[in-house]
Amino acid sequence: MNHQKNSVLILGSGTSTGVPIMNCFCSVCQSSNSKNQRTRASIFISTARGKKFLIDTSPDLRMQYLKNKLSPPDGVFITHDHADHLHGIDDLRPFSFRQKAMDLYTSTETANLIKERFSYIFAQKNQKVGGGIPLIDMHEVSIGEEEIIEESESFLFYLLPHHHTKTLGIVHEKKMAYFIDCNSIPTKTLNALKSFNLELLIIDCVRRAPHQTHLNLDKALQYANEIQAKKTVFTHLSHDFDHQELSNELKKYDSTFFPAYDGQLISY
Ligand SMILES: [Zn+2]
Ligand SMILES: [Zn+2]
Repeated sequence: MNHQKNSVLILGSGTSTGVPIMNCFCSVCQSSNSKNQRTRASIFISTARGKKFLIDTSPDLRMQYLKNKLSPPDGVFITHDHADHLHGIDDLRPFSFRQKAMDLYTSTETANLIKERFSYIFAQKNQKVGGGIPLIDMHEVSIGEEEIIEESESFLFYLLPHHHTKTLGIVHEKKMAYFIDCNSIPTKTLNALKSFNLELLIIDCVRRAPHQTHLNLDKALQYANEIQAKKTVFTHLSHDFDHQELSNELKKYDSTFFPAYDGQLISY
């Protein structure tokens, strides 16, 4: 029997600018607490069956990978096409030096946007060069139906409103949900999440004031409260939040709520 657990490593807990923000002199950006240093949002999943998945190729991907001494993933998920989640895609290159293409999973809409923006990666003539581009096998996921990915892993995908675009909400084994970059969670999806009795929810929480394209702290708290995962981690954090302050604030609200930080390892 396999007693190994699944785990998530938070590679990046920051919003699109990262924290500190260049040329910002606020107390969080100037803080010496390493938990206030946030690279762009991304996570690494290690499953109980030994599979590894990367969610999002942030512009900080290379340093996140080196810092955490990670091995190549079996597959990569892209939540949406915004630069802070996608523009490190070229750094997948070393994983295809042996000519094995990387499986990349995303929504149909995002797949089309990726092919357009990074057309050189998908141009037939370049696919033969090898080394110069990352070799990628693009897979479009189905929405709201269980899918078995890389032979053994159960995933569910949902589309979440993110202003004029949609983000892929990702659920592993009905135990862990990664819901970032959304301004709300549709009722049907919310009900599904509630029915799973999640071990771990990792949720968007960009700042204190309301935001057009993201959950702010109040909205994130409201959803976390409704979903009632065993543990909830708030991520995609801006310099609005000092780690220690937010940690105390969340603890007062619910002892199972925590702020994310780079390098945080959570099992589920
Ligand atoms: Zn983002
Ligand atoms: Zn700042």
